[in-house]
Amino acid sequence: MYQVCVDSISGYVNVPLIYYSHIPAAVVSLLIGALVIYKKKDLVGGTLFALSALFSIFVLLSLITWLNPSTVALTFFWSFFGMIISCIFVLCFYFSYLFLFNKDLGTRFKFFILFLLSPIFIITPTKFGVEYFDSTSCMPIENINFMFYYYSFGILAFIGVIFLFFKRNLQVKDKEERKINIIFTIGIEFFILMLFFASFFASYLYDLGLVDNYYLELYGLFGVIIFMGALAYLIVKFKTFDIKLIATQALVVILLLVIGSEFLFVTNDTGRTLVIITFALALGFGYFLVRSVKREIEQREKIEKLAGDLEKANEKLRGLDKLKSEFLSFASHQLRSPLTAINGYTSMLLEGSFGPLPDKIKKPIEVVSNSSKGLIKTVGEFLDISRIEQGGMKYTFTDFDAKELALEVFNELKPTFESKGLSYEFSADEKANYAINGDKGKIKQIIGNIIDNSGKYTPKGGIVVKVGKKDGKILISVVDTGIGIAKENISKLFAKFSRAKDANNTNVNGTGLGLYVAKKMMEANNGKLWVESSGEGKGSQFYIELNAKNA
Ligand code: ADP
Repeated sequence: MYQVCVDSISGYVNVPLIYYSHIPAAVVSLLIGALVIYKKKDLVGGTLFALSALFSIFVLLSLITWLNPSTVALTFFWSFFGMIISCIFVLCFYFSYLFLFNKDLGTRFKFFILFLLSPIFIITPTKFGVEYFDSTSCMPIENINFMFYYYSFGILAFIGVIFLFFKRNLQVKDKEERKINIIFTIGIEFFILMLFFASFFASYLYDLGLVDNYYLELYGLFGVIIFMGALAYLIVKFKTFDIKLIATQALVVILLLVIGSEFLFVTNDTGRTLVIITFALALGFGYFLVRSVKREIEQREKIEKLAGDLEKANEKLRGLDKLKSEFLSFASHQLRSPLTAINGYTSMLLEGSFGPLPDKIKKPIEVVSNSSKGLIKTVGEFLDISRIEQGGMKYTFTDFDAKELALEVFNELKPTFESKGLSYEFSADEKANYAINGDKGKIKQIIGNIIDNSGKYTPKGGIVVKVGKKDGKILISVVDTGIGIAKENISKLFAKFSRAKDANNTNVNGTGLGLYVAKKMMEANNGKLWVESSGEGKGSQFYIELNAKNA
């Protein structure tokens, strides 16, 4: 800090505009502090307000000393600098702690800081602070040790905030929060640095004779604007203090005030015209800025609310879905044992294990046997679905021959085709190698399901199964002359419980689960399953594609 006697350099009476950089800095700081305390009446808000108020007092003191008051007044005001500056540095550290950690400092640590601050408060009113008034330089002279002591709080605060930042960001996982912390830390460090520069370093450089005036210290005050800008950005962008709109409006008003105040300092018409144009432009842009921020906030709030509602609904649905899968699994397990017993005994009865059956009883037993087989299949599908949905389906991969497997399934199903009077054919290129690696049981179930469906949904005509190889892939096609599939149904067929509306005419016992399970199992085996059909009544072509082993 310094003081120049009015008489010594008369030029200073007509000061350049940069002298007044104090004023916008103080106003911006105080306004933002007031806005924050208005919206956030807690410790963080209060601390920021105290910080901005202290800073404004500091700037005011600085301005008073610029304005060359009497020697007595100058010495009086000057003595407060050390106290205020050290408190600002301490508050910067405290505020950073509150902001970054969302909790208060420990009492012991607070007392420790107060203890460190106490010498400044004790010394300030005594002769050991401002020692005397030097009439040659027209400046009050402070004890150099006292000065170094209170400025060391700046250095400590600067290092302390860096330490807090790293400690905090190592704990935080959330990317957004890390970003906010980075912006905050840059802002506050700038503030500390600039305050240090403006109040100490600039005069120190002058005292060392490295610069020839004190103008440098005025530039330091722009650091405050950067800090306030960072805070305003945090508020607007991440609503840390939940006052983004008011902050934007305040910033626009301040901008207009600053531009407007320039009007008082320009002396010619060109200057005035320029100020008017700048003012009008700022007014226009400011208006649009406030409006767009307002809209953005409204939209974001709406979306946030919707997203929250959706998330809740989803959670509920997930819970219900889990419950359903668990119930399905439980019920299916309970059903399976009695069904297996029914199926086993009816088969034994039909085979004559308990002696020959009278014809009158044979027919109903056959019906019971077929129905229990159908039920066992359905229960098996239910179990598969609950396993797939709960992620409990196990796959065991082995090497085997896909053509042999398809032929085995085909041969097992031949009797059903014969009983329906359908023609059937199986063909494969005998020379090709059909070795694959996959879950044999599951792939057998898939092929079985597709060929079985073709039999079920083909009232007359026949079924052709072909196994071929192309580009390292094994393709099993199952072509029938059955009821076919309407174009609009093709894409829905592989969904859970999906059945074509006329499916019941041909196969009453279907559940619409077989293709869904088959598709899921196929995906787990890195294969593909799809269907083609020219339409209703025009037959269907199902394709199973598997990766050949040594392609
Ligand atoms: P389900 O046969 O038990 O109804 P699926 O999942 O196996 O269940 O089949 C789903 C639906 O796909 C069937 O209800 C039927 O409408 C249709 N579909 C399956 N295979 C054929 C086929 N070969 N020809 C015509 N439609 C078929």
